[in-house]
Amino acid sequence: MNRTWASFGLALAVPALAGLVTWPVAGAGAAMAVFAAGLLIVVIAHYHHLALLRRWLREPAPEAVPQGWGVWDDVFSDLYRLLRSQRQSQSRLTATLEEFQQAGAAMPDGLVILDARDRIEWCNPKAEQHLGLDRRRDAGQQMTYLVRHPQFVEYLRSQNYGEPLTLRQTRGAEFILSVQLVPYGDRQKLVISRDITDLERVEAMRRDFVANVSHELRTPITVLAGFLETVSDSGAGGNDLLQRSLPLMVDQTRRMQRLVEDLLMLSRLESARYPLQAEPVDVPGLTHALYREALALSAGRHRVLLDSAGGTWLLGSEEELRSAFGNLVTNAIRYTPDGGEVVISWQRRGGHALFSVRDTGIGIEQQHLARITERFYRVDRGRSRETGGTGLGLAIVKHVLSRHQARLEIASEPGRGSTFSAVFPEERILAPERREEREDGSNGAGRRAENR
Ligand code: ADP
Repeated sequence: MNRTWASFGLALAVPALAGLVTWPVAGAGAAMAVFAAGLLIVVIAHYHHLALLRRWLREPAPEAVPQGWGVWDDVFSDLYRLLRSQRQSQSRLTATLEEFQQAGAAMPDGLVILDARDRIEWCNPKAEQHLGLDRRRDAGQQMTYLVRHPQFVEYLRSQNYGEPLTLRQTRGAEFILSVQLVPYGDRQKLVISRDITDLERVEAMRRDFVANVSHELRTPITVLAGFLETVSDSGAGGNDLLQRSLPLMVDQTRRMQRLVEDLLMLSRLESARYPLQAEPVDVPGLTHALYREALALSAGRHRVLLDSAGGTWLLGSEEELRSAFGNLVTNAIRYTPDGGEVVISWQRRGGHALFSVRDTGIGIEQQHLARITERFYRVDRGRSRETGGTGLGLAIVKHVLSRHQARLEIASEPGRGSTFSAVFPEERILAPERREEREDGSNGAGRRAENR
């Protein structure tokens, strides 16, 4: 029997005993009166304790838990223990939270916690500095009301947080931020901001250096190539050594020219000064032109086929797309032995548009595929040089495609061949009614296409 029931038994037993003692002395009536009075005292005592409990509940501090007797003593002790353990876990939680906030404050990166509806729950001092927030004033505010950068608003809405976003902030001195969103928990998000101004400056210096060197080299190499070709064509190289060296010199200067042109093209693609000039691009026409070029380059050594269904146009830069697609076609011819097959195709696949070049060439081993679009990465350096490669073709393709929000898919099997596909998203596909601008010749792009 537990203490509660024992106490209940005692509360009944004492008045009953008093009644029983009274009975022989004062009779049954007096005994009942004593028993009733005893019970009344018990009830009053309970109500008194209830009143104490209610008063304490208004301000429940562990040090002010009331004293009681009987079962109420147990109730009050249990309450005291419960409250004390609650206080302890609360102070442990507060200490952890403080530690977390101190760690957050010491972080060199900005941190913002957003709730499921993108409202700010908390941010650290670095985030206040990076994004112009105020932790106390802005808690509970919609993030996009405070950081109104259209790119950021779009990034937050896109639900696609694989890559960080680069933001230029112009409060005071201009600085550049890399902002990454990380979803966690129940649709909450962590916004991590990092100041990459110095990194970007170094990167810009590197880009400018390569662009300037390439630019400076362009003219001397062109002059050199011109002279060498003239001498070579005129047959003026009298002695034997010169006769043998001239073709080699012409070859090497042409290689340097291609290298400089590719480096300049890459610099342009990377430069913020050259944003994408989107225009209607007649891709079926472009594909056909590339097919003719492939036939000329192959000179009958391969079976070259064109598989272009429908007349899908794109919105993009014709010059850049021509360069990217041209690189894929040239590679297919260069890396396919004589007698092989090259198929150039332009198709729709679901909502996407797909430019692909399939060859039955030497193929690429799986371990190279992830690195093949890096600058100067070659599987077989000798073969690349022999066939006039610069090692920059696929790097250019990758840059052009990323400027068009497209991606490069590569499927390859050594000894069997490769398929390189440029996959364009629906937003890049041009609705037929908008092509008219170009077919009317109402923009420059149309005239350029006719001149090709
Ligand atoms: P390169 O000027 O050396 O061809 P790219 O950037 O165009 O440079 O290509 C990088 C490397 O990828 C090449 O050196 C070659 O090894 C490989 N590669 C590219 N296209 C093909 C292809 N169609 N078949 C086999 N290998 C290829």
